[in-house]
Amino acid sequence: MARRTNSIGHRTISALVLSALIFTFSSLTGAQTRPPAATSPRVPAKPKLVVLLVVDQMRGDYVDKFLGQWTGGLKRLVEEGAWFRDAAFPYAATETCVGHATISTGAFPATHGMVANAWWDRKEQKMVTCTADPDPSVKNTGYAGATPKGADTAWRLAVPSFAEELKFQTSETTRIVTFSLKARAAITMAGHKADAATWFDGGAWVTSSPYGTQPFIEEQAKSHPAKADFGKTWSLSLPESAYWYGEKALGAVPPDGWDLTFPHPLRGKMGVGEPDGAFYEQWASSPYADTALTELAEKAVDALNLGKAAGTDFLAVSYSSVDYVGHEFGPRSREIQDILVRLDKDLGDLFAHLDQKVGRGNYVVALSADHGVVPIPEDMQKTGADAGVLHLPELQERIEKAVEPFNYAKPAVARISGSDIYFAPGVYDKLQQDHAALQVVLDAALAQPGVAAVYRAEELRDRPATQSPVHRAMANSYFPGRSGDLFILPKPYWLLDGTPTGKQRSYGTGHGVPYNYDQHVPVLLMGFGIQPGQYFQPITPADIAPTLAALCGITLSSRDGHVLAEALKRPASTSAPAKSSLGAPRN
Ligand SMILES: [Zn+2]
Repeated sequence: MARRTNSIGHRTISALVLSALIFTFSSLTGAQTRPPAATSPRVPAKPKLVVLLVVDQMRGDYVDKFLGQWTGGLKRLVEEGAWFRDAAFPYAATETCVGHATISTGAFPATHGMVANAWWDRKEQKMVTCTADPDPSVKNTGYAGATPKGADTAWRLAVPSFAEELKFQTSETTRIVTFSLKARAAITMAGHKADAATWFDGGAWVTSSPYGTQPFIEEQAKSHPAKADFGKTWSLSLPESAYWYGEKALGAVPPDGWDLTFPHPLRGKMGVGEPDGAFYEQWASSPYADTALTELAEKAVDALNLGKAAGTDFLAVSYSSVDYVGHEFGPRSREIQDILVRLDKDLGDLFAHLDQKVGRGNYVVALSADHGVVPIPEDMQKTGADAGVLHLPELQERIEKAVEPFNYAKPAVARISGSDIYFAPGVYDKLQQDHAALQVVLDAALAQPGVAAVYRAEELRDRPATQSPVHRAMANSYFPGRSGDLFILPKPYWLLDGTPTGKQRSYGTGHGVPYNYDQHVPVLLMGFGIQPGQYFQPITPADIAPTLAALCGITLSSRDGHVLAEALKRPASTSAPAKSSLGAPRN
C-alpha cells in the first residue's frame, strides 16, 4: 500500500515540474511568433460552459484507493483540479434523487423536498416516485419511435436548480442539456424545464413534455447504441495484478446471465439472439452504458455548439452504471474497479473533446456522487464486526403486534419505505397523545435486530439545534408531509432490506443511511476559475451549486451550501500583466 501511495506522489510531483517546464517553454517560444499582451486572449469573465458530472454511488474513498488504476479523465480531475477529500452529505437520505437534487440546487432535502427516490403519498395512499407527475397534460415521450409509459417532471423539486437560475438570471441564452440512465437524475440536474433532459427506459432514450427534444438525440437513438452492444463481452481492462480484492465478491448477486467472475457477456438471459430484458439490465451494469452517455454528451457539444453562445451553457451527465454494479457486486469487487477504469477513459475522451471544441480553461467541470454504498453485509461479517441485514417486513410485523392491544386501525402501519415508517391515516396523531402505546411501538422497533435508534417526526421538524451528527442528519432530511412519522437508524454496517419475508435478497448491498460509507463522496472541480490542489476541510456536495453560481455571477435563492472560496482563483491580475509567467493563472 505504501509503495502505491509513493509512486502516485512521485508521479504527481514530476508531472507538476514537467508541466511547469512545458508552460515556461511554450510561453518563450510563443513570444517569438506572436505579439504579446494586446492580442493574447483575455481571461473571460465567466465560464462558457458548466459541466456537471455525477457518478451514481461513487464512494469518496474510491479516488484514494483506485487512483493508481486511472490514466484518463478521473486522473486529470485529481491532478489538474481541486480535490475535496472530506466531502460528505450531511443528511440521512443518501439516495439518488436526493443527492442529485442537492448537487443541482445547493440545498438539503429539508429545503428542496426530494426526500427519497420514492415515498408514501399520504393523500393518495400509495407510493410515488420523486419525479412522477399526476398532471394529465404531462407525458413521457420517446426518441426513435419509442412509446414510454408515465409522466416524469421536477414538479416536486421545491426550489429552482442552479441551471434554471443561470438561464433566468443571465441573458436567457443558456442551453440546459442533461443525460442519465435514470429519470430522477436527468430531471433533478436540469430542473423544471430544459432544452433536453434525456434518460433511458426499457431499451429506449426518453424525455417528457416540459423538456425540449433535439434532432441530434433522435439521430443517436435511431442508431440504437444499446442494441449495438448486444453480443459484446465486458472483460477486465488491466492485468489481474492491478486489481484490489479477490476474484469473486463475497455475497454478490450478479444480473441474470452473469457469473460471479469476469468476463461478463452481454447476451441476455439465455444467450439467445435477441436483446431481452436481461440484456438491458446487463448493459446498464456495464461500461458500455457509460460510453453511450459520453457519446451523447459529445454530440450535444457539437450539435448545439455548447460553450460558443453569448451566455454560459450547462451540460450534465449522471453516470448510472457504477450504482447498478455496486448494488450487484459491492464496493470490494473487481467489477467496481473496472467500471471506474473504463469511466476514466470515457471522461478523458470527453475532456479532450471539450478542450478542442470549447477550449481548455473556457469550461468548468464539477464531479461528485449522489451517495456511497455499504459493504455487502456477508462480506463485512468476515471481519468479525457487527454487520447484518435489518429486515423491514419483520420490523413492520413487530410494530403491528405491539399496537394490537391498544385498539388502533389494522394495519396500523401503512408503509415502511427505507428508514421511514408511515402510519395509516390518524394513527400517528393518536399515538402522540397515547404515551403508553407509543412507548410500546418504539420498544418494539428497538427490539428488531440491527436497529440503533428510532426518531420521531416532531424531533426533526424545523431542524432543531443538536450536538448529535446523526440527529442533525435526520433533521436535514426531514420535509413535512413527505417524510415518515418515525425513522429507523440502523446500526453501522446493517443493511436496510425490504425483501418480502421468505424471499431471497435480489441484490448484494445498498445505501440510504447517515453513516460515512453512504455520505462520503468525491468533490472535484477543474477548469475555469478553479485553483488546483487538495483540500481537506469538511465540505458538502451542496457547496457545488453555490460555487458554480459564484463563478457565473448569479444568486441561488435557498441554498444550504457555501461557496468553496478556497478553491477559487482570485482574478486580481486580469487588467495588469502578470509579473511572472509561472505565477499567472493558467486558465
Ligand atoms: Zn443505488
